[in-house]
Amino acid sequence: MAHDQIETMRKQIDEINLQILELINKRATLVQELGKEKEKQGSNRFDPERERQMLNLLVENNKGPFNDNAIRHLFKQIFQASLVLQDDDKKKVLLVSRKKKAEDTVITVKGVEFGGKNPILISGPCSVESYEQVRAVAENHAKRGLRTLRGGAYKPRTSPYDFQGLGEEGLQILKRIGDEFNLVTISEIVTPADLEMATKYIDVIQIGARNMQNFELLKAAGRVNKPILLKRGLSATIEEFIYAAEYILSEGNAQVMLCERGIRTYEKATRNTLDISAVPLLKQETHLPVFVDVTHSTGRRDLLLPCAKAGFAVGSDGVMVEVHPDPDVALSDAKQQLNIPQFNEFVDELLASGLYKGEIV
Ligand code: PEP
Ligand code: MN
Repeated sequence: MAHDQIETMRKQIDEINLQILELINKRATLVQELGKEKEKQGSNRFDPERERQMLNLLVENNKGPFNDNAIRHLFKQIFQASLVLQDDDKKKVLLVSRKKKAEDTVITVKGVEFGGKNPILISGPCSVESYEQVRAVAENHAKRGLRTLRGGAYKPRTSPYDFQGLGEEGLQILKRIGDEFNLVTISEIVTPADLEMATKYIDVIQIGARNMQNFELLKAAGRVNKPILLKRGLSATIEEFIYAAEYILSEGNAQVMLCERGIRTYEKATRNTLDISAVPLLKQETHLPVFVDVTHSTGRRDLLLPCAKAGFAVGSDGVMVEVHPDPDVALSDAKQQLNIPQFNEFVDELLASGLYKGEIV
């Protein structure tokens, strides 16, 4: 076959491709309209009987060279794609989604930007144990120019016999020290009934991993006028995590930040498995600030620094780490908290890496 003959035939094929393209899109538009009509009438979009009729009609009229099976297969693909199209149309654009809001959410508290240009460190003791204990950490924070102090007053512990936290007294300690050193305070609240009370004392309310799907707590958090730091559930998928955040926004509170804190896997070398890819994924899918908790994900002091670097490198808005004046006698998480000199070294190493630039405002 001569070269120009091949070219002519290719052109014809291109032409037919374009005609098919136009036709299948025309068909898709009709299917979409029909889908909307069916939805109004409350009837099911997928109608196997109708599909059978369409396939029969096609096969009856099939003159080849495609055999009947090939025709069935090709058209099944078109039918399938139309159903997916209707699903996409129906999917509500979530309030947390980048599709809803393209620009990053930045939450500013006492001059500290969560989700701003400069990634930050969220640190403090696992539990608030005493005024002196928290003050020692806060004093060092102030010296180092750190602005965010986190400590647990309500501790959701695996065993009921372990230290459960100081409760409201712990929040009062945080308030006093937060005021003294101009620090943004963060603490976990576990009961909807305590949320209002907590807003008197702390600047950011944390919802911990164990409560990520406590929907009543999420809804109540959506009704307070305080930023919420939501941690990923122990075995939560990214989708479940996103929906949990949506619960809070859907009740009116748009000041939500997310924290990847490791998920349960078969791996025993670390306390949890840090899902580092969750960070860029959540940044892509949502407009919310995203943090990485290196303490509860790794459960290992020797992994805190490399994992913090990884967190910053993949674009997290900050890293969470626990520091205690005397971790050996800490009432919770004694094994993985840093002491103050170790913490300072951790901060120095991060500064030296250039991934973290400090945060004096
Ligand atoms: C915490 O941050 O204090 C904590 C208990 O972590 P998580 O909820 O992620 O287990
Ligand atoms: Mn802890």
